[in-house]
Amino acid sequence: MNIRLAGFAQESIVDGPGVRIVVFFQGCIHHCPSCQNPTTWPFDRGTDVPLEDILAMFEKNRNTTSGVTLSGGDPFCNLDAAIAVAREAKERFRFHVIGYTGYTYEEILRLGRKDMRYLVLLSYLDTLVDGRFLLSLRSISINNRGSRNQRCIDVRKSQEYGKIVLDEKMMDMSFYEEDPIDTF
Ligand code: SF4
Repeated sequence: MNIRLAGFAQESIVDGPGVRIVVFFQGCIHHCPSCQNPTTWPFDRGTDVPLEDILAMFEKNRNTTSGVTLSGGDPFCNLDAAIAVAREAKERFRFHVIGYTGYTYEEILRLGRKDMRYLVLLSYLDTLVDGRFLLSLRSISINNRGSRNQRCIDVRKSQEYGKIVLDEKMMDMSFYEEDPIDTF
């Protein structure tokens, strides 16, 4: 299986806690104004990379990495590819897995009622960083998020309790503001 990537990083310190492998998927439908990576929007750009090559990178770094981050683009706009990568990261390598998305957690649950793949991908994540990037709520003072409406969500606890539980290790709540316009 080939995975369409915008790129990858083997030692990132800005995409979650620790030193992480980051997989940047190609393609995003959200088109947030002032997105830092608009070249990752088109689905027909990027490079096809065999899944085996990504797994070889996981193997090479498995003893030194803190985990894997799925970014983009948007992994939730590349469901089959992101599921394939996330499944291996979680089930074979037992990595801590973070996923970034422009959808909100609530939108993913809603979309999952019609297409189970949204929920399957969510099930392989430990933490979801959700929501569109909003320039009006941008802050350079916050870690792991671009704008204050975005949330770092503890997926396992949220599923266990049936409500959103934030990942307090990744998210400083003093910098949270609700998205003023939920357009979905
Ligand atoms: S969801 Fe992320 S990649 Fe997509 S447009 Fe928004 S900021 Fe850019």
